[in-house]
Amino acid sequence: MGKNVKYLMRLDDASPYWDFEKWQRVHDLLREYNIFSIVAIIPHNEDADLTAKYSRDNSFIDTISSWITEGFTPGLHGYNHVMDSQDGGINPVNLRSEFAGKSLEVQREKIAKGVKIFSSWGIDTKIFIAPAHTFDKNTLEALKLESNIRIISDTIANDIYYDDGFYYIPQQSGQVREMNFALTTFCYHPNTMSEAAFSRLEKFLAKHHDKFTRFEALNMSMRKKTLYDKALSFSYFLRRRIISIAGKH
Ligand SMILES: [Zn+2]
Repeated sequence: MGKNVKYLMRLDDASPYWDFEKWQRVHDLLREYNIFSIVAIIPHNEDADLTAKYSRDNSFIDTISSWITEGFTPGLHGYNHVMDSQDGGINPVNLRSEFAGKSLEVQREKIAKGVKIFSSWGIDTKIFIAPAHTFDKNTLEALKLESNIRIISDTIANDIYYDDGFYYIPQQSGQVREMNFALTTFCYHPNTMSEAAFSRLEKFLAKHHDKFTRFEALNMSMRKKTLYDKALSFSYFLRRRIISIAGKH
């Protein structure tokens, strides 16, 4: 059990408004084991939770560019990271979104502006990472019309799958733990990592670093979603619903 599993790291909320010391610490820890993650970069951060908390780092683009040169993989993390919609869309991990529930026109503009900022920074990306994990059919259409991005990092499944013009890299856990999916993406938010989270990650990497892969090594197969993937997704969201109801008492 667990012999053929692969792990992938994803780090969310990189922008000039970040906790650079924590990001550097995660970066150095991954490099210690020759691990390269996906980095979800916000092109135009207007999320007050981040912009009011951190002062602007004018070295951000230089830092990120050097990490990309090393082997880290940039992903387009929405446009401004403002979750002003209460729609969960087609991956309802949260009932808040920068994208889900909005018109195609609005979403096209966000994608176009995000891609334009990335190119002004010299960053090219193949991956879309929706803030709060939430997007809908219009988001996919907007990506088709305004970008070359055809890969989504998100959804619950056993492995990468292809559906209607997009490849999906599943993202199943918010912290490291032993998983038996063919491919598991662990999603971290370095800005808010606690000392305990760092220590857990350090211990896990020391033991399991050989199971980690990187985006460039993934095989983008035209595999369709199987009944197993669908069952995983169904039970995940059912369990989440039960937990969220239980949490209200
Ligand atoms: Zn985010």
